[in-house]
Amino acid sequence: MVNFDLAIIGGGPAGCSAAVYAARKQLKTIFITESFDGQSIESPDIQNWIGTPHISGADLAKSLEKHVREYADPYVTLKTGVRAQLVEKIDDSFNITVGTESVIAKAVLITTGGARRKLTVPGAEQFENKGVVYCASCDGPLFAGTDTVVVGAGNAGFETAAQLLAYAKSVTLLSRSADISKADPKTVDAVRAHPNATILTNVVPVEVTGSVFVESVVVEHTKSGERTTIPCSGIFVEIGIIPATDLVKNVVERDQFGRIKISDHRSMRTSHVGIWAAGDCIDGLYHQNNIAAGDAVKALEDIYLWIKAEGN
Ligand SMILES: Cc1cc2nc3c(=O)[nH]c(=O)nc-3n(C[C@H](O)[C@H](O)[C@H](O)COP(=O)(O)OP(=O)(O)OC[C@H]3O[C@@H](n4cnc5c(N)ncnc54)[C@H](O)[C@@H]3O)c2cc1C
Repeated sequence: MVNFDLAIIGGGPAGCSAAVYAARKQLKTIFITESFDGQSIESPDIQNWIGTPHISGADLAKSLEKHVREYADPYVTLKTGVRAQLVEKIDDSFNITVGTESVIAKAVLITTGGARRKLTVPGAEQFENKGVVYCASCDGPLFAGTDTVVVGAGNAGFETAAQLLAYAKSVTLLSRSADISKADPKTVDAVRAHPNATILTNVVPVEVTGSVFVESVVVEHTKSGERTTIPCSGIFVEIGIIPATDLVKNVVERDQFGRIKISDHRSMRTSHVGIWAAGDCIDGLYHQNNIAAGDAVKALEDIYLWIKAEGN
């Protein structure tokens, strides 16, 4: 059984960034990823990957993979097309179960990301990327001058509404309860005060309708059962991310949504010494490719110093 200094688990923007840095720092690393497809693989046109005005999600994934492969040898061993199932502490290292195999590493960086919680009402799947979208920073500008709807009244929902209000004709935010206190009060106030914003509470979307693109969303008022049709071109869904963190549930603290708690955002350390995490799998406020990459680089810098420190 080969022992590694570091295991990086997950090959989206966070994991790939960390792998390039690990190779350049000559850390004996195993990079375990099911794929190089980050979540934005579905995006036809990413416009905010810094340094690249336009790139499709598929091309971004290819370029990240190419970058990793170009620097990997001889320090970073790639283990692709497989999922890591479990991370356990053993003596002064970690045992990572990958299928029937075990990998031993001194330090672990979790960059397993997650998946956006999807809207599952009739029409939502049919109109995905045809008006039903999951990222305001990515797709918001496409809806300039149009009527839009935001589903979700947490921080992400209100942040999305605030962003859209800069250019959309109108933004209607849907909250399934009367309680909108989960979101940052300043953002809520800013949205509330905007003349083009409407906040509807106690409503849930029940159907997305349209022809080629979205034309409206039907909402149900949870108290009366009454249904209303809201005309719109864009439906921004912000009902949470399902983080892929089960593999570390026994070793690190996670929040109520299953996101890995970062105990120090300067270093990206988790509650367990020797385990770092970065990207969409953590309890961060914002989810973007650039942030995932930057946070993973911060983690890698800290891991390097930790591994080189006496006693680790
Ligand atoms: C539709 C959509 C469009 C988006 N568009 C943009 C955009 O335009 N600009 C922007 O900045 N952000 C965008 N985002 C957000 C961005 O995609 C995420 O913030 C980013 O992908 C997070 O990167 P990550 O590396 O943390 O995780 P992810 O991208 O989720 O990657 C995680 C990787 O880990 C692998 N993995 C997971 N579990 C395991 C396991 N147990 N073992 C091995 N491998 C595992 C997965 O296969 C995957 O390759 C978009 C998101 C969505 C959903």
